[in-house]
Formats: sequence, C-alpha cells, structure tokens
Amino acid sequence: MTSYGHFIGGKHVAGTSGRSADVFTPMTGEVASHVSLASVEEVDAAVHIAAAAQIGWAAVNPQRRARVMMRFLQLVLDNQKTLAELLAREHGKTVPDAMGDIQRGYEVVEFCCGIPHLLKGEFSDGVGPSIDAYSLRQPLGVAAGITPFNFPAMIPMWKFAPAIACGNSFILKPSERDPGVPMRLAELMMEAGLPAGVLNVVNGDKVAVDALLDHPGIAAVGFVGSTPIAEYIYARGASKGKRVHAFGGAKNHMVIMPDADMDKTVDALIGAGYGSGGQRCMAISVAVPVGQAAADRLMEKLVPRVEALRIGLSTDPQADYGPLVTQAAVDRVHQYCDIGIKEGADLVVDGRSFKMQGYENGFYVGSCLFDNVTKDMRIYKEEIFGPVLSVVRAKSYEEGLALCNDHEYGNGTAIFTRDGDAARDFVSRVQVGMVGVNVPIPTPLAYYSFGGWKRSAFGDLNQHGPDAVRFYTKTKNVTARWPSGVKEGVEFSMPTM
Ligand code: NAD
Repeated sequence: MTSYGHFIGGKHVAGTSGRSADVFTPMTGEVASHVSLASVEEVDAAVHIAAAAQIGWAAVNPQRRARVMMRFLQLVLDNQKTLAELLAREHGKTVPDAMGDIQRGYEVVEFCCGIPHLLKGEFSDGVGPSIDAYSLRQPLGVAAGITPFNFPAMIPMWKFAPAIACGNSFILKPSERDPGVPMRLAELMMEAGLPAGVLNVVNGDKVAVDALLDHPGIAAVGFVGSTPIAEYIYARGASKGKRVHAFGGAKNHMVIMPDADMDKTVDALIGAGYGSGGQRCMAISVAVPVGQAAADRLMEKLVPRVEALRIGLSTDPQADYGPLVTQAAVDRVHQYCDIGIKEGADLVVDGRSFKMQGYENGFYVGSCLFDNVTKDMRIYKEEIFGPVLSVVRAKSYEEGLALCNDHEYGNGTAIFTRDGDAARDFVSRVQVGMVGVNVPIPTPLAYYSFGGWKRSAFGDLNQHGPDAVRFYTKTKNVTARWPSGVKEGVEFSMPTM
C-alpha cells in the first residue's frame, strides 16, 4: 500500500507526526493508501527550507525561470495520461474528465512561460530635472497554497506556477483526500530543473493549515475550498499580516429564457449539472426557467435525459460521471435529498438507491432532479456538491435575475437565450463574478483571472491570469536622478518636481 509523506527540499520525506489519513479508491470504496498529516514542526522545517531556496531562485533571471516552466509544461503533456489515471483513481472522476482537469492546469503553466513579459514594470522618462520614475515587481518570499479535493491537478498548478514564475518559493498543502497528483507534479517540477526547496508539498489537515497561516515566514496564502473554511483562512491569515485570497463555494444558476433553444440548453445543462458528479465549483446546480411554458418544455426534455445518465467506473470511457470522492460525500447528498423532500420540493428523478453492480462498496450516487424548489429551502440556499440539480421556476426575467443577485454565493452563472438585449442586460446587472451567455461553465481561460463575488471569494485579487502576477509580487516605485549632482539647493516644502 502506498504511503504518502511530504515533498520537501526536492525529495520525498516520511512524515514524523505519527498522524495519517486514509486515501480511498472511490470506484471500489477500498483504502488505497495513507497520507501523513504534518505537525507544526514539520511545517516550520519546510518553511525554512523554502525561505533559503527562495533567495537563489529570485536571483534567477525571468527567462530562465520561464524555461523551467516550459520544460515542466512538456513533462505534464508527456505524462498527462498516467497523471489522469492516478487522478481518476483517487478522486473518482472519469479519465477524460481528469484529462481536462490537467489541461486547465497546464494552460496556466503556459501563461507563466511568458513571465519575462508579464513582470515588466513601468518607466517614465524625465519626470523632473534629470529624474526618471519607474516601478518594479518583486517576489514576496515564501507563498503557500491550500487546495481542495475536486481539482487535484488544476488548482495546485493555478497556485504554484504563477507564484514560482514570479520568483517566490512555494509550499503546497493539497487536499488530504487525493494527494497523489500534487506529489507527482512536484517531482515533475524537479525534473524540469527547478532548484530543490522552491516547490514543497506538505500533506496535512487543519494542524498544517493553521501552522502555515500563523508562520511569520509565509508572506502570502492562496486558498480554494468551501466558504466557511475560506472565510476562516482569510480572517486568520490577514490578521497575521499576510496577503490572502480565498475562494469558496458556489450555487450557480442557469437562467433559461423562453426563446432559448431548448435542445441545446438541455445538452449544456446536463453536462454542467452532472459532469464530475456535480463536484465542481462552476457546476450548474440551479436551473431557472422563465415562464410556465419554458419550465414545462425544459422538464419534458430534461427528465428523460437525467434518468438516462450513465454512472460508471472512473475507468469506463462511456461513463457520464463516476463515483463521488468519499462515502461522506454520498451521505451528504442523501441527507440533502431527504431535506428537500421534507421542505416540499418534488424529487422527480431519485437516484438515491443506485448501486454499481460488482462495486457495491464504491461511492456512487444516482442522478437526482428536484422540481418546484423555492428560495427559502435549504437545498436552494446551501451548496450540495453532488449530482443534484434544482429547478426554480421564475415568473419573469426580473425574478430570475433577482434569484442570482440575492443568493449569498456569486461564483458563476449563465443565461441561455437568443435575445441579445436580454443577454446584455443580464451580463451588466448580474452580481456574479463569472458569467456565461449560452455557455454553461464560463471558467475564464488562463490569460484572464478566475474568481467569484459575494461569499464565493474573500480578498481582492483573483486566481491565474494578470491578477496572479499582481498577487504574487509587490510593487516597488523608484524615483532616480542621474546625474546626481544637479544643484538645486535645500527644499523643505513637499517635492512637486
Ligand atoms: P474544504 O474546504 O473541505 O477543504 C479545502 C482545503 O482546506 C483542504 O486542503 C483541507 O485540508 C483544508 N481544510 C479543511 N478543513 C479545514 C479546517 N477546519 N481548517 C483549516 N483547513 C481546512 O473543501 P473541499 O471539500 O476539499 O472542496 C470542495 C469545496 O471547494 C466546494 O465548496 C467547492 O465549491 C469549493 N471550490 C471552490 C473553487 C473556487 O474557485 N471558488 C474551486 C474549486 C472548489
């Protein structure tokens, strides 16, 4: 049985805390490996190693840092299939879905290959007599990333690639539920020529996270996970003077206008609602048909499609989605279904009794669909994070828009329509960070930045794209006079040049 320790100072090291957690194979429900949970002392040792390595790494010129990124990118491409198989085995998502997880990660590495250009500062010539003004972007020091289980390749790469390209060293604390791919990515970074100690992986739970948040040697923390933890990370990290951005949960609405092409809408909705078993922060979990006729047409087409979804092994190329990550995730979905029924919603497709033949101990849930959900219900207000879609019928476009705007989460949303006026109005007025027009999962590409609004994100710079370069650097402004000997006399009032 595999046992994951940590990856510190360029090599695998065994955990010394005496604490560990089980890592499952969701397909079978078996324990596949154990992962060490770091102690405060182990985190402290990793921070010291990362701090020592950062000094040399920051002195490596940006072109050379970019070349490490280019070699890493090639290694990820060369190993994508085996990485995807490992990812699918520990997470439960299907192999094609895992290939996409890796691709959305390496696209950020591609972006980071342009770091010499991205780090260029500003320069103003002759702002005063023999005086020039310019700005520099400099690394912060040691940054930490705390990442969720649901994208174990993509989100670690979103975190460490820009941080390292900017000249920082990095400590990654991946999810303890699927640490295999993050550990392998650290090995590939070493193979790509990254100096030892610049990227470290410390496995662990709350003990390791708190140690990172409190450590004076950590300058910045990037977090992705559920909202209560995101809020906690933001508050505790910021109170220790760190730069923090923390991305949380979601309840993403798809507003379906009466003029939408219903076949295409259902195709989009079903993929965005049930892909990866609904375990995506950009999954659509609420469909909002506008008007009685649109709602009836939607349900007529949607119900048979949800009933026909194929749940399979992660290794089954025909499966629409695989098992969930843990038995606890399955139990949570069942509990929410019970809550929804008690609250008076109609469970029109009930997948709770689904069992995978021959894999009865695996973490499978059949697809569930609720109709007539209302905004006071817990199944509407709370994130379920499973293959459960809620239909909330709106009488008008304004009511549909208000649902999106009044919800506490504001990660992603979409409108499906053929009406440009409605689409433009929605884009302008919706209080959500990432918006799709006839696109169900509007995840920004690597060269834009990713982040939600309201209680889906804490902190004011987003992930990847230009914001990541801003997040992982500090700006220094310089005013320089050459030749220095120009005689001007003494000046006691505010310099105005
Ligand atoms: P989670 O909040 O349980 O865990 C995320 C990380 O925090 C893990 O590394 C975990 O070890 C750590 N952690 C957990 N409890 C902690 C505690 N009490 N103190 C300190 N650290 C703790 O999230 P998850 O279940 O791994 O991931 C699913 C969640 O992530 C969903 O809510 C999903 O919407 C969200 N998510 C958000 C985004 C986004 O960009 N907004 C992207 C992906 C996932």
